[in-house]
Amino acid sequence: MSEKVAIVTGSNKGIGLAIVKGLCKRFEGVVYLTSRDETRGRQAVEELEKDGLKPLYHQLDVADKSSVVKFGDYVKKKYGGIDILINNAGVAPEMPLKNNYEDSKSVIDINYGGLLTVEEVLFPLLRNNARVVNVSSDCGHLSNVRNEEWIKKFSNKNFTRSDINDFVDWYLESVKKGTFKNSDLADNGSVASYRVSKVAVSALTIIQQKELESRGIIVNSMHPGLVSTDMTMGIGFFSIDDAAETPIYLALDSPSTIKGAYVWYDKTVLDWY
Ligand code: NDP
Repeated sequence: MSEKVAIVTGSNKGIGLAIVKGLCKRFEGVVYLTSRDETRGRQAVEELEKDGLKPLYHQLDVADKSSVVKFGDYVKKKYGGIDILINNAGVAPEMPLKNNYEDSKSVIDINYGGLLTVEEVLFPLLRNNARVVNVSSDCGHLSNVRNEEWIKKFSNKNFTRSDINDFVDWYLESVKKGTFKNSDLADNGSVASYRVSKVAVSALTIIQQKELESRGIIVNSMHPGLVSTDMTMGIGFFSIDDAAETPIYLALDSPSTIKGAYVWYDKTVLDWY
């Protein structure tokens, strides 16, 4: 039987690194630590090796399709498939917030666009009964959307991929034109691009589950809590090891009834709307 494979995107530091650490301790197969920057990734592998762990390494920039394709080809040739895929890579807008089109687009291109590229290239490699965890955020719950039209669209169980893309485009276009209304998002639109990107991630998870259901594949999105990492400039209630618990639970332990769900850091499933 072929070796089992787990992959964590954006895992040279932060929550992704802790997920790799946890999987190395428990997963019966190979665990790939991946990073957009090879030096940072290899340094992280060396750190884990000092603790006796043995992650494997491959470069993977989710915002660079050629990098994702290269990694996909490598995995296909070497293993033939993927058993666990944790889509953790993500960015927050740079501070101080500019809220301009370029910054907003670059956040969305990584957090949502990166997931679409991974889906296009790596999902075809998912084995039957594989598990996918999309690391979203509390900013990715539908309650972050305050625009009535979009709430209505996404509370309808039959919303589509194009609805999600339209939502993202609506936001970016309104930023470009200077017509974006802060009141259309929670917290008076603070970190708007991040909220939009993560709502798109959580919404896409629901669709991905429907599409992969017949192959026994389970896809969930989750909020890791407020975690002390570079992204939060060290502000957080949880350590990266605490934060890795729920994604690891969803990858290895959760009952198969939890699927296409939005999961809170304490492992409870929250209604999407
Ligand atoms: P960090 O900034 O510590 O880590 C983010 C990781 O993503 C880094 O390894 C970073 O690489 C990587 N990354 C960024 N862009 C890309 C890319 N294009 N391709 C591949 N990897 C990339 O953040 P966290 O650990 O806090 O965040 C992990 C996830 O958790 C994110 O999706 C985030 O949105 C989410 N989250 C975090 C919360 C928190 O409180 N920390 C709360 C809610 C959600 P590099 O080192 O090269 O920048």
